[in-house]
Amino acid sequence: MTPDLESRVDGVLAAVDETYALELACRLVRIPSVYRPDDREANETAVAQAIADELRALGLEVHVEDAVPGRPNVIADWIGSQSGALLILEGHSDVVTEGDPSAWSVPPFGGVVAEGRLYGRGAADMKGGVAAAIAAIRAIRNAAIDLPGRIRLAVVADEEGMMVGIKSFIRNGWASGACGAIICEPEANEICLVQKGALRAVARFRGKMAHGAIPKSGVNPVPAAAAFVHRLAALERGYVMRHGAHGLLGEPSVTATVLRGGELAQLNVIPAEATVGVDVRTIPGQDYARIRGDLSAAAAEAASGTPGCGNELEVIEERPWTETSPDATITGAVERACRRVQGRSPRHRGVPGATDGTFLHAWAGVPIVTIGPGDVTIPHQVDEFVRVAELTEAARIFAAAVCYCLGSAG
Ligand SMILES: [Zn+2]
Repeated sequence: MTPDLESRVDGVLAAVDETYALELACRLVRIPSVYRPDDREANETAVAQAIADELRALGLEVHVEDAVPGRPNVIADWIGSQSGALLILEGHSDVVTEGDPSAWSVPPFGGVVAEGRLYGRGAADMKGGVAAAIAAIRAIRNAAIDLPGRIRLAVVADEEGMMVGIKSFIRNGWASGACGAIICEPEANEICLVQKGALRAVARFRGKMAHGAIPKSGVNPVPAAAAFVHRLAALERGYVMRHGAHGLLGEPSVTATVLRGGELAQLNVIPAEATVGVDVRTIPGQDYARIRGDLSAAAAEAASGTPGCGNELEVIEERPWTETSPDATITGAVERACRRVQGRSPRHRGVPGATDGTFLHAWAGVPIVTIGPGDVTIPHQVDEFVRVAELTEAARIFAAAVCYCLGSAG
């Protein structure tokens, strides 16, 4: 007779090995995986190899495939005792730059453990989360429980860039048919069902170069660019009026992030072109076709004040906002796991930035829950750390959530 789900979860939680999770996280932090386009050695290859070796040693079915040359994704399946649902545990292998190492109080890739914290670039974002996910799968394997279905661990490249890793993972069919995904990003082990989206665009204003002494012989694109920046503020006010503030995500925003026109060394030249970069952050309910239309209209109106000035709006990237139903199987499983492991009602928050989960949700239609170890504000800073207790707690939450999800999805 198969023991009931709760007693199987007991067995799995007892099998979560804190020392293993911490040692693995240390080991991963010590393998730098900052992507630097002009350095052939600086990418995710070495850390992906270490992760793949670890997963093979655990007996998983492991695939390593390049998302783009030199930037591998690691995909590993744990296969249950009988067929059933597919659940994805997702993380990324790249980390952002350490910046100036002398600004750190520990070596950024030293994997130093002190006062209950593991320090280093990627400790929170998100080698800690990846190690916790692997420790969870290891506990399920070691507990040798009866569990239907399949756990797919995806550790992909380039989350901190254009997210080519997760896009390739989806294009290659790895997300097909998944009943849900846990995105193991640092959210202080609190549950995120909503996530802001983003739209990045560049507005170009084209004039005619001329001598600053005879400006009327040219067309100056700079006032058009300035007018566009003004219009962005008005667009933002309009979006805030229309959509208000989301309870967990706050207000939408429209921010000019780049302003370029001419060169400082050429103060006496009317430039031929001026450019404005825009970063729009969206909340649930916002329509991207409308935003694209608004930005194009704003660029055209801004240019219309300068006769002869051309304008063009290019959308560089669209990352939809996401909202996962509280009724999804994965949501129920993670909430139950948090209640079980944390011994209290789960806390909820929203993800302020886009993650790989954005595309799993938007492109592959997979319901996502974002939760993982590490303070929300710590990633990308100096002296990044993850609390050891939180790392273990995450491994326990992931392990229980997998059991509840696969055990109930049938
Ligand atoms: Zn991350």
